[in-house]
Amino acid sequence: MKQISGIAASAGIAIANAYVLEEPDYSFEKKTDADPAVEKERLETALDKAKVDLAQIKEKAEVDLGEEEAAIFAAHLLVLSDPEFIGGMQAHIDNEKVNAESAVHDVSQTFISMFELMDNEYMKERAADIRDVSKRVLGYLLGIQMKSLAAIDEATIIIAKDLTPSDTAQLNPQFVKGFAADIGGRTSHSAIMARSMEIPAVVGTKESTTSIHNGDTIIIDGLEGVVIVQPDEETTQAYKQKKENYEQQKLEWAKLVNEATKTVDGHHVELAANIGTPDDLTGVINNGAEGIGLYRTEFLYMGRDQLPTEEEQFNAYKTVLERMEGKPVVIRTLDIGGDKELPYLELPKEMNPFLGFRAIRLCLEHQDIFRTQLRALLRASTFGNLKIMFPMIAALEELREAKAILEEEKQKLVNEGQQVSDSIEVGMMVEIPSTAVIADLFAKEVDFFSVGTNDLIQYTMAADRMNEQVSYLYQPYHPAILRLVNMVIEAAHKEGKWAGMCGEMAGDEIAIPILLGLGLDEFSMSATSVLPARSQIAKLSKQELETFAKEMLMKNTSEDVHEAVKTRLSSL
Ligand code: PEP
Ligand code: MG
Repeated sequence: MKQISGIAASAGIAIANAYVLEEPDYSFEKKTDADPAVEKERLETALDKAKVDLAQIKEKAEVDLGEEEAAIFAAHLLVLSDPEFIGGMQAHIDNEKVNAESAVHDVSQTFISMFELMDNEYMKERAADIRDVSKRVLGYLLGIQMKSLAAIDEATIIIAKDLTPSDTAQLNPQFVKGFAADIGGRTSHSAIMARSMEIPAVVGTKESTTSIHNGDTIIIDGLEGVVIVQPDEETTQAYKQKKENYEQQKLEWAKLVNEATKTVDGHHVELAANIGTPDDLTGVINNGAEGIGLYRTEFLYMGRDQLPTEEEQFNAYKTVLERMEGKPVVIRTLDIGGDKELPYLELPKEMNPFLGFRAIRLCLEHQDIFRTQLRALLRASTFGNLKIMFPMIAALEELREAKAILEEEKQKLVNEGQQVSDSIEVGMMVEIPSTAVIADLFAKEVDFFSVGTNDLIQYTMAADRMNEQVSYLYQPYHPAILRLVNMVIEAAHKEGKWAGMCGEMAGDEIAIPILLGLGLDEFSMSATSVLPARSQIAKLSKQELETFAKEMLMKNTSEDVHEAVKTRLSSL
C-alpha cells in the first residue's frame, strides 16, 4: 500500500482499478528485405482493425458525448481512407521491400512534416491527426492495446501526467470513477470540469504515473487530496465507510435544494453555479442553484475546428436562459487563452500564456469574433434574465471599448427590427489586481462585479494556478487577497451596485464566513458546492461575522486567517 498526496480537485471518494494513460513503446526494427505481399496484407489487416475500432469509438462518443466530441474520430477515419496516405504506404512497401511498420512510420512522417511546415494552425492540427492515426495503426501492427478515453466502458480510475480540458470532456462519468494527474492545481480547468461532472479527482500528485501500474486498485480521496495505491483490506473498508458517509451527507444537503439561502439572522445571499456548457444545467438545477453566476462560453468554441456561428451560439445561450426560467444568468464573453487553447485560431505561442493575448484583449483585436458573440447574446436576451460580463479587464479603456461595441451591436439589431431586452446588466470580472485597486472608478461604469479569484490569486501572488510547485503560494485566505476582495465589495456598494464572486474561493467553507461578513452579494461556484454552502450559510450570522471579517483583513498570514476561521466555526 502506498499513499500519494496531491491537491483535492473534486470532492468524493472513488475506488476502482487504474488505467494509466501512458505513451506505449512504438519502437520496431526496420526491415528492407521483407516480402511485399505479406507486409501489404499485414498493413491492410491493421488498417481494417483501426477503422472498425474508430467507427465504434465514434458511434459511442456520439451517443455518450454528442456530435461535437465525436468529430475528432470522424477526422481520424477520413485519414484512414485517404488514397494518397494509404497508397503511399503500399508503394513504399513495394518499392523499398520494407516491413509494414516502417511504411506506416515513414509515410506518416512525410505527411506530418509537410503539415507541420504549413503556416496555419488548422493544417498543423492535421499533423496531430496523422500522428494519432499512425500510432493507432502501428499499435495494431505491434500488438499494442489501444484505448480511447471516450471508449472506457468499465469502472476505471484514470491516472495521467496531465489531463487537458478536452481530455476531460471525453470522460464518461458512468465508467470513469475518478482521476489523478501528476500536474495541475485546484483551479486548472480540468479540475473545474471534474467538479461539474462530479468525478472525484486529485491533481498535482507529481508521481502518480510513475508509482501506479495498470490494474492497480486505487482509492481517490477527492475530499482530502490523497491517492491510495493497492490499499490493504482495513484501508479499503475505512474508505468504503468514508464514501458511504459522504453519500449520506449529500442526501442531507439535498433536502435544501428548494430552500432559499439565508443566514441565521435572515440575510439572503444568492448562491449561483458556474457552467461550461448547457449540458451542465442538469447539475445546476439538481443542486438548487439560484442562478448562473458564470457561464464560461469558451467551451462552446473548444473541441471543434472552427468558430461557432452566431446561430449556434444563440441557440446555446437561449437554452440556458430558458432553462433557468427567469433566474439570473451571467454569461461571460469569450475567455480563451491561458490553459484554454483554440488551435484553429492562428495565435502565436507565447512565453506566458496567462499574461498574454487572451480573453478581452483578443476580443477587442478580433472584433469579428467578439461582435458575433455579442449579437448572439443580445438576440438571446429576451428569453430570460441575461447579464453580460467581460473577462480579464485590466484598464478602464478596455471596459469602455467593450461596452461601446456592445452598444453598437445592440443598435444594429434594433435597426434590423430584432428584439433585444432593455434590462441587460453589464458587468466585469475582477481578476487582475489593477481593477480591484481602482474598483471605485470601475464601479461607476458597470452594473456589477464578479471577483474571479482563480486568476486574481495567481496574479496577486505571482503563482501560476496550474503549477503544483508553487501551489503553496496559491493562498485564497492571504490577507492581500481578502483586502482586494473587500475593496471590490465596498466600491460596488458605494455606487449601489452588487458584487459577486465566481472564482472557486466562493464555494470554500473557510472563505464563506469571511465573504459573508464582508458583504458579498452573490456566490457562484461549482454546482456540487451549492448545497454544502447553503447548509453552512444557514448556520452563520451575517451581523456577527461583520466584525470578524474585518479582523481577518488585519491578520498577518493566510495560516492565521485559516486558524481563526476554523476556531470560530468549531465554536458554532
Ligand atoms: C477566475 O479567474 O476566477 C474565473 C472564474 O475564471 P476562469 O477560472 O475561467 O479563469
Ligand atoms: Mg479567470
